Amino acid sequence: MRPLKTRGRRTTKTAQFAQSTRMRAHRPSAPTVSIGPLSGNHIDSGEMTTTTRQLDELLADVRTITVLTGAGVSTGSGIPDYRDRDGEWKHAPPMQYAEFSGSDEARRHYWARSYVGWQRFGKARPNAAHVALAGLEAAGRIDTVITQNVDRLHSRAGSRNVIDLHGDLSRVRCIDCDDLSPRHRFQHDLRDANPDWHAHVSGCRPDGDVELTASGHDEFRVPGCRKCGGRIKPDVVMFGESVPRQRVEAAMSAVDRTDALLVVGSSLMVFSGFRFARHAHETGKPIAIVNQGKTRADDIAAVKVEADCGELLSRLDEQHLAGAVPA
Ligand SMILES: [Zn+2]
Repeated sequence: MRPLKTRGRRTTKTAQFAQSTRMRAHRPSAPTVSIGPLSGNHIDSGEMTTTTRQLDELLADVRTITVLTGAGVSTGSGIPDYRDRDGEWKHAPPMQYAEFSGSDEARRHYWARSYVGWQRFGKARPNAAHVALAGLEAAGRIDTVITQNVDRLHSRAGSRNVIDLHGDLSRVRCIDCDDLSPRHRFQHDLRDANPDWHAHVSGCRPDGDVELTASGHDEFRVPGCRKCGGRIKPDVVMFGESVPRQRVEAAMSAVDRTDALLVVGSSLMVFSGFRFARHAHETGKPIAIVNQGKTRADDIAAVKVEADCGELLSRLDEQHLAGAVPA
């Protein structure tokens, strides 16, 4: 595999990166700066030039990368983010599994919102960030993409080795008999059970959930499992549930067999994602972060770039293609 190298010497001074990153981490909100073209001659900010160069150097110095992505990667596909730049909830926090599984009313509210939300969520298409990551995997630079997203957009963009850490919203699972079935089929069941139901949508969320105006849920009917009549849930890890152990182990193995961890579009506020950054740090693997806003791993990152991930990843992908031409 050929290293990503387009400019200057191949040096990595992780300690220097860490020091400059700590300085940035204590700044409450760094400005958003657009990334210039491949040559780097038109980058708007001196700080951005420095951090993108550090990112280039870090990636040039390693062979394979594990990528960990979050909601920020899918905002370019029209799927909203959960959190603001300070890592705080933008909306009311998502429903907890205990509430969902324990209450008919909660499930009615969830599925009424999700029934409407899927009509938009299900149409989302991969954006430049997904395409660039698929390109870097095809080029042999990325070993595995671990994603906290449930939209399957990495796979649809062509990434092959994807771990959907939090599951897949395009499937549903029966809580009672564990039967797995496609979401579109359950969507038809919901439509058939609610032929005259309409609701006014007041907002959208990253998990395909939407906010409805009051009283929209009360007449909504939720059909049971086709096999056992039991409770249907989306095949995702809801808040209050644990990620299946096998999935965590597969993701940890990816971090262990690769040379660096690249975090893209995640604040890492949820432990299920943060643990991979912590593990990389504890095992001496450098961490690079591309995210607009603060993350829980800013203090342990070797380099942090505040940038639009679609633009930046496309640039890295182009750089690889440029660097892959034999000298
Ligand atoms: Zn069932």
